[in-house]
Amino acid sequence: MTASTWTTWARQHQANPDRILHPKSAQELARLLQEADQQGQKIKVLGKGRSSSAIAQPVDQQVTLDYMSGLVSVDQENLTATFMAGTSIRQANQLLGRYKLAFTNLGRLDNQTLAGAIATGFHGSGSSYQIFASQVASFTMLDASGQTLTCSPVENPDIFVAALCGLGALGVMTQITFRVVPQFRLHAVERGHAYRDIVHTFPERARSADHYKFSWFPGNKEVRTRRLTRLDLLPEGYMPAGSYLSQARRYGGDHLLNNGLFSAVSYAGSQLPAVQPTLNRVSNWAKGNRRYADYSARVFTITRTVRQNNMEYAFDMVLFDQVMEEVRRYFEREHPVMSYPLVVRTAAADQIPLSQAYGRETFYISARAYWRQDYRQLFKGLEEVFKAYGGRPHWGQFHTQDAASLAGLYPAFEDFVELQQELDPQGTFLNPYLERVLLG
Ligand SMILES: Cc1cc2nc3c(=O)[nH]c(=O)nc-3n(C[C@H](O)[C@H](O)[C@H](O)COP(=O)(O)OP(=O)(O)OC[C@H]3O[C@@H](n4cnc5c(N)ncnc54)[C@H](O)[C@@H]3O)c2cc1C
Repeated sequence: MTASTWTTWARQHQANPDRILHPKSAQELARLLQEADQQGQKIKVLGKGRSSSAIAQPVDQQVTLDYMSGLVSVDQENLTATFMAGTSIRQANQLLGRYKLAFTNLGRLDNQTLAGAIATGFHGSGSSYQIFASQVASFTMLDASGQTLTCSPVENPDIFVAALCGLGALGVMTQITFRVVPQFRLHAVERGHAYRDIVHTFPERARSADHYKFSWFPGNKEVRTRRLTRLDLLPEGYMPAGSYLSQARRYGGDHLLNNGLFSAVSYAGSQLPAVQPTLNRVSNWAKGNRRYADYSARVFTITRTVRQNNMEYAFDMVLFDQVMEEVRRYFEREHPVMSYPLVVRTAAADQIPLSQAYGRETFYISARAYWRQDYRQLFKGLEEVFKAYGGRPHWGQFHTQDAASLAGLYPAFEDFVELQQELDPQGTFLNPYLERVLLG
Protein backbone atom coordinates (compact mmCIF):
# COMPACT_ATOMS: atom_id res chain seq x y z
CA MET A 1 0.00 0.00 0.00
CA THR A 2 1.79 3.10 -1.23
CA ALA A 3 0.33 6.58 -1.48
CA SER A 4 -0.32 7.93 -4.96
CA THR A 5 -2.22 10.86 -6.34
CA TRP A 6 -5.99 10.56 -6.76
CA THR A 7 -7.50 12.50 -9.60
CA THR A 8 -10.84 12.76 -11.35
CA TRP A 9 -10.99 11.56 -14.97
CA ALA A 10 -10.78 15.06 -16.45
CA ARG A 11 -8.17 16.04 -13.84
CA GLN A 12 -10.20 18.80 -12.18
CA HIS A 13 -9.35 17.61 -8.65
CA GLN A 14 -6.38 15.84 -7.08
CA ALA A 15 -5.54 14.45 -3.65
CA ASN A 16 -2.82 12.50 -1.88
CA PRO A 17 -4.44 10.17 0.65
CA ASP A 18 -2.21 8.40 3.18
CA ARG A 19 -3.49 4.91 2.39
CA ILE A 20 -4.94 3.20 -0.69
CA LEU A 21 -6.92 0.08 0.08
CA HIS A 22 -8.32 -2.67 -2.15
CA PRO A 23 -10.53 -4.91 0.02
CA LYS A 24 -11.50 -8.26 -1.47
CA SER A 25 -14.67 -8.83 0.56
CA ALA A 26 -17.35 -7.03 2.58
CA GLN A 27 -15.81 -8.53 5.75
CA GLU A 28 -12.41 -7.03 4.97
CA LEU A 29 -14.02 -3.70 4.14
CA ALA A 30 -15.96 -3.77 7.45
CA ARG A 31 -12.68 -4.34 9.32
CA LEU A 32 -11.04 -1.40 7.52
CA LEU A 33 -13.98 0.83 8.43
CA GLN A 34 -13.78 -0.24 12.08
CA GLU A 35 -10.04 0.55 12.18
CA ALA A 36 -10.57 3.95 10.54
CA ASP A 37 -13.39 4.67 13.00
CA GLN A 38 -11.17 3.84 15.99
CA GLN A 39 -8.28 5.94 14.63
CA GLY A 40 -10.55 8.90 13.77
CA GLN A 41 -9.46 8.63 10.11
CA LYS A 42 -11.61 9.65 7.15
CA ILE A 43 -12.26 7.01 4.53
CA LYS A 44 -13.59 7.45 0.99
CA VAL A 45 -14.83 4.70 -1.27
CA LEU A 46 -14.15 5.51 -4.90
CA GLY A 47 -16.03 4.68 -8.05
CA LYS A 48 -14.31 5.32 -11.39
CA GLY A 49 -13.60 9.04 -10.93
CA ARG A 50 -16.20 10.08 -13.54
CA SER A 51 -17.68 12.78 -11.31
CA SER A 52 -16.29 16.18 -12.19
CA SER A 53 -17.10 17.62 -8.77
CA ALA A 54 -14.81 16.74 -5.84
CA ILE A 55 -17.50 14.46 -4.36
CA ALA A 56 -15.16 11.45 -4.36
CA GLN A 57 -12.04 13.23 -3.08
CA PRO A 58 -10.29 11.06 -0.48
CA VAL A 59 -8.80 12.69 2.64
CA ASP A 60 -6.93 10.09 4.77
CA GLN A 61 -7.75 6.74 3.21
CA GLN A 62 -9.14 5.77 -0.18
CA VAL A 63 -10.83 2.47 -0.94
CA THR A 64 -11.45 1.02 -4.38
CA LEU A 65 -13.89 -1.80 -4.99
CA ASP A 66 -12.01 -3.25 -7.99
CA TYR A 67 -12.09 -6.68 -6.37
CA MET A 68 -15.72 -6.32 -5.36
CA SER A 69 -17.38 -6.43 -8.75
CA GLY A 70 -19.48 -8.93 -10.71
CA LEU A 71 -22.85 -10.61 -10.65
CA VAL A 72 -23.94 -12.27 -7.39
CA SER A 73 -27.26 -13.80 -8.48
CA VAL A 74 -30.17 -13.50 -10.90
CA ASP A 75 -33.80 -14.29 -10.19
CA GLN A 76 -35.35 -14.76 -13.62
CA GLU A 77 -38.81 -15.39 -12.26
CA ASN A 78 -39.02 -12.20 -10.20
CA LEU A 79 -36.80 -10.23 -12.60
CA THR A 80 -34.13 -9.10 -10.16
CA ALA A 81 -30.34 -9.18 -10.38
CA THR A 82 -27.82 -8.64 -7.57
CA PHE A 83 -24.39 -7.15 -8.27
CA MET A 84 -21.34 -6.31 -6.20
CA ALA A 85 -21.28 -2.53 -5.80
CA GLY A 86 -17.99 -2.00 -7.69
CA THR A 87 -19.38 -3.48 -10.95
CA SER A 88 -19.34 -1.01 -13.82
CA ILE A 89 -22.56 -0.34 -15.71
CA ARG A 90 -20.88 -1.66 -18.86
CA GLN A 91 -20.01 -4.94 -17.11
CA ALA A 92 -23.51 -5.16 -15.62
CA ASN A 93 -25.08 -4.70 -19.08
CA GLN A 94 -22.96 -7.55 -20.46
CA LEU A 95 -23.78 -9.83 -17.53
CA LEU A 96 -27.52 -9.10 -17.76
CA GLY A 97 -27.41 -9.74 -21.52
CA ARG A 98 -26.33 -13.35 -20.87
CA TYR A 99 -29.69 -13.86 -19.15
CA LYS A 100 -31.61 -11.87 -21.79
CA LEU A 101 -32.26 -9.15 -19.20
CA ALA A 102 -31.60 -5.40 -19.16
CA PHE A 103 -31.87 -2.20 -17.11
CA THR A 104 -35.05 -0.38 -18.09
CA ASN A 105 -33.34 3.02 -18.49
CA LEU A 106 -29.75 4.28 -18.57
CA GLY A 107 -27.81 7.51 -19.08
CA ARG A 108 -25.07 7.96 -21.68
CA LEU A 109 -21.97 6.98 -19.68
CA ASP A 110 -21.34 3.31 -18.88
CA ASN A 111 -17.88 2.99 -17.39
CA GLN A 112 -18.72 4.29 -13.93
CA THR A 113 -19.59 1.91 -11.07
CA LEU A 114 -23.16 1.02 -10.13
CA ALA A 115 -22.60 2.49 -6.65
CA GLY A 116 -20.99 5.69 -7.99
CA ALA A 117 -23.88 6.19 -10.40
CA ILE A 118 -26.41 5.70 -7.59
CA ALA A 119 -24.53 8.01 -5.19
CA THR A 120 -24.57 10.91 -7.67
CA GLY A 121 -28.11 10.68 -9.08
CA PHE A 122 -27.14 9.29 -12.51
CA HIS A 123 -30.02 9.53 -15.01
CA GLY A 124 -30.87 9.22 -18.67
CA SER A 125 -33.86 10.74 -20.44
CA GLY A 126 -37.54 9.76 -20.45
CA SER A 127 -40.56 11.64 -19.11
CA SER A 128 -42.10 8.39 -17.81
CA TYR A 129 -38.82 7.09 -16.36
CA GLN A 130 -37.21 8.02 -13.06
CA ILE A 131 -33.47 8.24 -12.40
CA PHE A 132 -31.24 5.13 -12.60
CA ALA A 133 -31.41 4.45 -8.84
CA SER A 134 -35.19 4.04 -8.97
CA GLN A 135 -34.48 0.55 -10.38
CA VAL A 136 -32.86 -0.51 -7.08
CA ALA A 137 -34.93 -3.04 -5.09
CA SER A 138 -32.59 -3.42 -2.09
CA PHE A 139 -28.94 -3.20 -1.07
CA THR A 140 -26.52 -4.00 1.72
CA MET A 141 -24.45 -1.18 3.12
CA LEU A 142 -21.76 -0.79 5.78
CA ASP A 143 -22.09 2.18 8.10
CA ALA A 144 -19.12 4.13 9.46
CA SER A 145 -18.62 1.64 12.32
CA GLY A 146 -18.48 -1.28 9.85
CA GLN A 147 -21.92 -2.58 10.79
CA THR A 148 -23.98 -4.19 7.97
CA LEU A 149 -27.39 -2.70 7.13
CA THR A 150 -29.85 -4.34 4.77
CA CYS A 151 -32.09 -1.73 3.16
CA SER A 152 -35.24 -1.99 1.05
CA PRO A 153 -38.68 -0.31 1.01
CA VAL A 154 -39.61 -2.54 4.01
CA GLU A 155 -36.28 -2.85 5.85
CA ASN A 156 -34.68 0.43 7.00
CA PRO A 157 -36.92 2.30 4.51
CA ASP A 158 -35.65 5.79 5.43
CA ILE A 159 -32.04 4.81 4.85
CA PHE A 160 -33.05 2.97 1.67
CA VAL A 161 -34.66 5.95 -0.01
CA ALA A 162 -32.01 8.46 1.14
CA ALA A 163 -29.13 6.28 -0.09
CA LEU A 164 -30.66 6.09 -3.58
CA CYS A 165 -28.89 9.41 -4.03
CA GLY A 166 -26.65 9.22 -0.94
CA LEU A 167 -23.58 11.15 -2.23
CA GLY A 168 -21.37 8.47 -0.66
CA ALA A 169 -22.08 10.17 2.69
CA LEU A 170 -24.30 7.59 4.39
CA GLY A 171 -22.33 4.38 4.11
CA VAL A 172 -20.62 2.01 1.70
CA MET A 173 -22.85 -0.11 -0.52
CA THR A 174 -21.48 -3.62 -0.98
CA GLN A 175 -24.25 -5.44 -2.90
CA ILE A 176 -27.13 -3.95 -4.88
CA THR A 177 -30.25 -5.73 -6.17
CA PHE A 178 -31.96 -4.19 -9.19
CA ARG A 179 -35.39 -4.76 -10.68
CA VAL A 180 -34.61 -5.60 -14.29
CA VAL A 181 -36.68 -6.16 -17.44
CA PRO A 182 -36.56 -8.67 -20.31
CA GLN A 183 -34.00 -7.57 -22.89
CA PHE A 184 -35.50 -5.15 -25.44
CA ARG A 185 -34.45 -3.14 -28.48
CA LEU A 186 -34.51 0.60 -28.99
CA HIS A 187 -35.25 2.23 -32.30
CA ALA A 188 -33.36 5.51 -32.55
CA VAL A 189 -34.17 8.44 -34.80
CA GLU A 190 -31.54 11.20 -34.75
CA ARG A 191 -32.11 14.27 -36.88
CA GLY A 192 -31.89 18.03 -37.18
CA HIS A 193 -34.80 20.45 -36.70
CA ALA A 194 -35.25 24.21 -36.61
CA TYR A 195 -34.64 25.44 -33.04
CA ARG A 196 -37.94 27.36 -33.00
CA ASP A 197 -39.91 24.19 -33.89
CA ILE A 198 -38.51 22.20 -30.99
CA VAL A 199 -38.16 24.74 -28.26
CA HIS A 200 -41.88 25.55 -28.06
CA THR A 201 -43.04 21.94 -28.20
CA PHE A 202 -40.37 20.10 -26.26
CA PRO A 203 -42.41 19.08 -23.16
CA GLU A 204 -45.15 17.49 -25.36
CA ARG A 205 -42.63 15.83 -27.65
CA ALA A 206 -40.76 14.42 -24.65
CA ARG A 207 -43.96 13.11 -23.04
CA SER A 208 -45.11 11.42 -26.22
CA ALA A 209 -41.82 9.55 -26.74
CA ASP A 210 -40.28 6.76 -24.68
CA HIS A 211 -36.94 8.60 -24.45
CA TYR A 212 -36.31 12.01 -26.00
CA LYS A 213 -33.67 14.72 -25.87
CA PHE A 214 -32.17 17.48 -27.94
CA SER A 215 -28.76 19.06 -28.25
CA TRP A 216 -28.12 22.62 -29.31
CA PHE A 217 -25.09 24.81 -29.92
CA PRO A 218 -26.38 28.18 -28.62
CA GLY A 219 -26.59 30.66 -31.46
CA ASN A 220 -27.33 27.93 -34.06
CA LYS A 221 -30.73 27.92 -35.70
CA GLU A 222 -30.72 24.12 -35.73
CA VAL A 223 -31.01 21.57 -32.92
CA ARG A 224 -30.48 17.80 -33.08
CA THR A 225 -33.11 15.54 -31.51
CA ARG A 226 -32.85 11.90 -30.47
CA ARG A 227 -36.08 9.91 -30.10
CA LEU A 228 -35.90 6.35 -28.80
CA THR A 229 -38.80 3.91 -29.13
CA ARG A 230 -38.88 0.68 -27.14
CA LEU A 231 -39.35 -2.50 -29.23
CA ASP A 232 -39.56 -6.18 -28.34
CA LEU A 233 -36.67 -8.44 -29.31
CA LEU A 234 -37.04 -10.17 -32.64
CA PRO A 235 -37.70 -13.95 -32.56
CA GLU A 236 -34.63 -16.23 -32.26
CA GLY A 237 -33.08 -17.01 -35.62
CA TYR A 238 -34.70 -13.98 -37.21
CA MET A 239 -32.66 -10.84 -37.88
CA PRO A 240 -30.61 -9.98 -34.77
CA ALA A 241 -31.34 -6.75 -32.87
CA GLY A 242 -28.42 -5.10 -34.63
CA SER A 243 -26.61 -6.81 -37.49
CA TYR A 244 -22.82 -6.95 -37.23
CA LEU A 245 -22.51 -4.62 -40.22
CA SER A 246 -24.84 -1.98 -38.77
CA GLN A 247 -23.11 -2.28 -35.38
CA ALA A 248 -19.69 -1.81 -36.96
CA ARG A 249 -20.90 1.18 -39.00
CA ARG A 250 -22.52 2.78 -36.00
CA TYR A 251 -19.58 2.13 -33.73
CA GLY A 252 -17.27 3.68 -36.32
CA GLY A 253 -19.58 6.67 -36.74
CA ASP A 254 -20.11 7.21 -33.02
CA HIS A 255 -16.49 6.73 -32.17
CA LEU A 256 -15.21 9.00 -34.91
CA LEU A 257 -17.83 11.71 -34.50
CA ASN A 258 -18.40 11.72 -30.76
CA ASN A 259 -14.82 11.08 -29.74
CA GLY A 260 -12.30 11.50 -32.58
CA LEU A 261 -13.93 14.43 -34.37
CA PHE A 262 -14.97 16.06 -31.11
CA SER A 263 -11.46 15.74 -29.77
CA ALA A 264 -9.97 17.42 -32.84
CA VAL A 265 -12.68 20.09 -32.97
CA SER A 266 -12.42 20.78 -29.24
CA TYR A 267 -8.66 21.06 -29.35
CA ALA A 268 -8.80 23.40 -32.35
CA GLY A 269 -11.50 25.47 -30.63
CA SER A 270 -9.51 25.72 -27.40
CA GLN A 271 -6.54 27.09 -29.39
CA LEU A 272 -8.57 29.36 -31.69
CA PRO A 273 -11.87 30.30 -30.02
CA ALA A 274 -12.94 32.49 -32.98
CA VAL A 275 -13.33 29.43 -35.23
CA GLN A 276 -15.35 27.40 -32.69
CA PRO A 277 -18.83 28.39 -34.01
CA THR A 278 -17.83 27.28 -37.54
CA LEU A 279 -16.41 24.03 -36.17
CA ASN A 280 -19.67 23.44 -34.28
CA ARG A 281 -21.72 23.88 -37.47
CA VAL A 282 -19.45 21.42 -39.29
CA SER A 283 -19.75 18.85 -36.51
CA ASN A 284 -23.58 19.20 -36.50
CA TRP A 285 -23.64 18.74 -40.27
CA ALA A 286 -21.27 15.73 -40.13
CA LYS A 287 -23.65 13.87 -37.84
CA GLY A 288 -26.47 13.99 -40.40
CA ASN A 289 -29.81 12.22 -39.88
CA ARG A 290 -29.93 8.52 -39.08
CA ARG A 291 -32.17 5.69 -37.84
CA TYR A 292 -31.15 2.38 -36.35
CA ALA A 293 -32.28 -0.29 -33.88
CA ASP A 294 -30.21 -2.30 -31.45
CA TYR A 295 -30.16 -3.83 -27.97
CA SER A 296 -31.17 -1.14 -25.47
CA ALA A 297 -27.82 -0.90 -23.67
CA ARG A 298 -26.01 -0.27 -26.97
CA VAL A 299 -28.33 2.60 -27.81
CA PHE A 300 -28.62 4.22 -24.38
CA THR A 301 -24.87 4.30 -23.71
CA ILE A 302 -21.80 5.44 -25.60
CA THR A 303 -18.07 5.16 -24.98
CA ARG A 304 -16.58 8.56 -24.19
CA THR A 305 -12.85 8.94 -24.63
CA VAL A 306 -12.52 12.75 -24.75
CA ARG A 307 -12.00 14.19 -21.27
CA GLN A 308 -14.54 16.86 -20.45
CA ASN A 309 -15.89 19.03 -17.66
CA ASN A 310 -19.61 18.88 -17.04
CA MET A 311 -22.25 21.02 -15.37
CA GLU A 312 -25.91 20.06 -15.30
CA TYR A 313 -28.91 21.67 -13.64
CA ALA A 314 -32.43 20.26 -13.27
CA PHE A 315 -35.64 22.32 -13.38
CA ASP A 316 -39.36 21.98 -12.88
CA MET A 317 -40.87 21.19 -16.31
CA VAL A 318 -43.43 23.99 -15.87
CA LEU A 319 -40.54 26.48 -16.25
CA PHE A 320 -39.32 25.07 -19.57
CA ASP A 321 -40.16 28.07 -21.81
CA GLN A 322 -38.88 30.64 -19.33
CA VAL A 323 -35.58 28.89 -18.64
CA MET A 324 -34.82 28.22 -22.31
CA GLU A 325 -35.59 31.82 -23.26
CA GLU A 326 -33.31 33.11 -20.51
CA VAL A 327 -30.53 30.73 -21.60
CA ARG A 328 -30.92 31.89 -25.22
CA ARG A 329 -30.69 35.54 -24.13
CA TYR A 330 -27.65 34.81 -21.97
CA PHE A 331 -25.74 33.35 -24.94
CA GLU A 332 -26.87 36.19 -27.21
CA ARG A 333 -25.60 38.73 -24.65
CA GLU A 334 -22.36 37.07 -23.48
CA HIS A 335 -21.24 34.95 -26.47
CA PRO A 336 -19.29 32.38 -24.42
CA VAL A 337 -17.46 29.85 -26.59
CA MET A 338 -19.00 26.36 -26.39
CA SER A 339 -17.06 23.35 -27.60
CA TYR A 340 -20.02 21.02 -26.95
CA PRO A 341 -23.75 21.53 -27.43
CA LEU A 342 -26.12 21.99 -24.50
CA VAL A 343 -28.12 18.79 -23.99
CA VAL A 344 -31.72 18.86 -22.75
CA ARG A 345 -33.24 15.70 -21.20
CA THR A 346 -36.18 14.79 -18.95
CA ALA A 347 -37.12 12.52 -16.01
CA ALA A 348 -40.28 11.62 -14.12
CA ALA A 349 -40.68 12.96 -10.57
CA ASP A 350 -39.43 10.76 -7.72
CA GLN A 351 -39.35 10.74 -3.90
CA ILE A 352 -35.59 10.28 -3.42
CA PRO A 353 -34.65 13.14 -1.04
CA LEU A 354 -31.56 14.45 -2.86
CA SER A 355 -32.52 13.42 -6.39
CA GLN A 356 -32.52 16.34 -8.81
CA ALA A 357 -36.01 15.15 -9.84
CA TYR A 358 -37.43 15.03 -6.28
CA GLY A 359 -41.13 15.91 -6.33
CA ARG A 360 -41.31 17.40 -9.82
CA GLU A 361 -41.46 16.42 -13.47
CA THR A 362 -37.99 17.47 -14.49
CA PHE A 363 -35.99 18.71 -17.42
CA TYR A 364 -32.21 18.92 -17.29
CA ILE A 365 -29.82 21.19 -19.18
CA SER A 366 -26.24 20.01 -19.29
CA ALA A 367 -23.23 21.97 -20.47
CA ARG A 368 -19.88 20.43 -21.25
CA ALA A 369 -16.46 21.87 -21.88
CA TYR A 370 -13.33 20.36 -23.38
CA TRP A 371 -10.94 19.67 -20.52
CA ARG A 372 -8.30 22.14 -21.76
CA GLN A 373 -10.85 24.96 -21.83
CA ASP A 374 -11.33 27.34 -18.86
CA TYR A 375 -14.61 25.76 -17.83
CA ARG A 376 -15.01 27.62 -14.53
CA GLN A 377 -15.62 30.98 -16.14
CA LEU A 378 -17.91 29.46 -18.78
CA PHE A 379 -19.98 27.49 -16.27
CA LYS A 380 -20.24 30.18 -13.59
CA GLY A 381 -22.00 32.66 -15.90
CA LEU A 382 -24.49 30.05 -17.04
CA GLU A 383 -24.95 28.80 -13.48
CA GLU A 384 -26.23 32.23 -12.43
CA VAL A 385 -29.05 31.86 -15.00
CA PHE A 386 -29.78 28.33 -13.77
CA LYS A 387 -29.82 29.38 -10.11
CA ALA A 388 -32.39 32.10 -10.79
CA TYR A 389 -34.92 29.39 -11.78
CA GLY A 390 -34.52 27.07 -8.80
CA GLY A 391 -32.20 24.74 -10.72
CA ARG A 392 -30.76 21.79 -8.80
CA PRO A 393 -27.13 20.90 -9.64
CA HIS A 394 -25.91 17.39 -10.53
CA TRP A 395 -23.97 16.18 -7.47
CA GLY A 396 -21.23 14.68 -9.59
CA GLN A 397 -20.64 17.76 -11.74
CA PHE A 398 -19.43 21.35 -11.43
CA HIS A 399 -21.46 23.75 -9.26
CA THR A 400 -20.74 26.38 -6.64
CA GLN A 401 -23.69 25.83 -4.28
CA ASP A 402 -23.43 25.10 -0.56
CA ALA A 403 -25.70 23.76 2.18
CA ALA A 404 -27.36 27.14 2.74
CA SER A 405 -28.51 27.46 -0.88
CA LEU A 406 -29.19 23.74 -1.43
CA ALA A 407 -31.45 23.46 1.64
CA GLY A 408 -33.97 25.72 -0.10
CA LEU A 409 -34.00 23.53 -3.22
CA TYR A 410 -34.68 20.17 -1.56
CA PRO A 411 -37.70 19.91 0.78
CA ALA A 412 -36.19 16.88 2.60
CA PHE A 413 -32.65 18.31 2.83
CA GLU A 414 -32.59 18.67 6.64
CA ASP A 415 -33.83 15.09 7.11
CA PHE A 416 -31.01 13.83 4.89
CA VAL A 417 -28.40 15.76 6.89
CA GLU A 418 -29.83 14.45 10.18
CA LEU A 419 -29.67 10.88 8.89
CA GLN A 420 -26.10 11.39 7.70
CA GLN A 421 -25.05 12.56 11.16
CA GLU A 422 -26.84 9.65 12.80
CA LEU A 423 -25.17 7.02 10.57
CA ASP A 424 -21.75 8.70 10.51
CA PRO A 425 -21.40 10.80 13.71
CA GLN A 426 -17.63 11.32 13.28
CA GLY A 427 -17.90 12.41 9.65
CA THR A 428 -15.76 9.47 8.48
CA PHE A 429 -17.26 9.60 4.96
CA LEU A 430 -17.10 13.39 4.62
CA ASN A 431 -14.58 15.38 2.59
CA PRO A 432 -14.38 19.14 1.84
CA TYR A 433 -16.99 18.90 -0.97
CA LEU A 434 -19.50 17.00 1.19
CA GLU A 435 -18.90 19.36 4.13
CA ARG A 436 -19.65 22.30 1.82
CA VAL A 437 -22.85 20.87 0.33
CA LEU A 438 -24.24 19.23 3.48
CA LEU A 439 -23.00 21.36 6.37
CA GLY A 440 -22.23 24.74 4.73
C1 LIG B 1 -18.42 11.65 -20.11
C2 LIG B 1 -19.40 11.66 -18.98
C3 LIG B 1 -20.73 11.40 -19.25
C4 LIG B 1 -21.68 11.43 -18.20
N1 LIG B 1 -22.98 11.16 -18.49
C5 LIG B 1 -23.89 11.24 -17.51
C6 LIG B 1 -25.28 11.00 -17.77
O1 LIG B 1 -25.68 10.67 -18.90
N2 LIG B 1 -26.17 11.15 -16.74
C7 LIG B 1 -25.76 11.50 -15.49
O2 LIG B 1 -26.61 11.64 -14.59
N3 LIG B 1 -24.46 11.69 -15.19
C8 LIG B 1 -23.52 11.56 -16.16
N4 LIG B 1 -22.21 11.76 -15.85
C9 LIG B 1 -21.82 11.91 -14.43
C10 LIG B 1 -21.43 10.55 -13.89
O3 LIG B 1 -22.29 9.55 -14.37
C11 LIG B 1 -21.48 10.34 -12.38
O4 LIG B 1 -21.03 11.38 -11.66
C12 LIG B 1 -20.78 9.00 -12.17
O5 LIG B 1 -21.81 8.05 -12.33
C13 LIG B 1 -19.99 8.75 -10.99
O6 LIG B 1 -19.60 7.36 -10.98
P1 LIG B 1 -18.14 6.89 -10.59
O7 LIG B 1 -18.15 5.41 -10.53
O8 LIG B 1 -17.14 7.51 -11.48
O9 LIG B 1 -18.03 7.45 -9.10
P2 LIG B 1 -17.00 8.51 -8.47
O10 LIG B 1 -17.10 9.77 -9.20
O11 LIG B 1 -15.67 7.89 -8.32
O12 LIG B 1 -17.69 8.67 -7.02
C14 LIG B 1 -18.92 9.33 -6.87
C15 LIG B 1 -19.49 9.13 -5.46
O13 LIG B 1 -19.89 7.76 -5.32
C16 LIG B 1 -19.49 7.32 -4.05
N5 LIG B 1 -19.36 5.85 -4.04
C17 LIG B 1 -18.59 5.08 -4.82
N6 LIG B 1 -18.73 3.80 -4.48
C18 LIG B 1 -19.61 3.75 -3.46
C19 LIG B 1 -20.16 2.71 -2.67
N7 LIG B 1 -19.83 1.43 -2.87
N8 LIG B 1 -21.08 3.03 -1.71
C20 LIG B 1 -21.44 4.31 -1.50
N9 LIG B 1 -20.92 5.34 -2.20
C21 LIG B 1 -20.02 5.06 -3.17
C22 LIG B 1 -18.14 8.01 -3.85
O14 LIG B 1 -17.73 7.97 -2.50
C23 LIG B 1 -18.49 9.40 -4.35
O15 LIG B 1 -19.12 10.12 -3.31
C24 LIG B 1 -21.25 11.73 -16.87
C25 LIG B 1 -19.90 11.97 -16.60
C26 LIG B 1 -18.97 11.94 -17.65
C27 LIG B 1 -17.53 12.19 -17.33
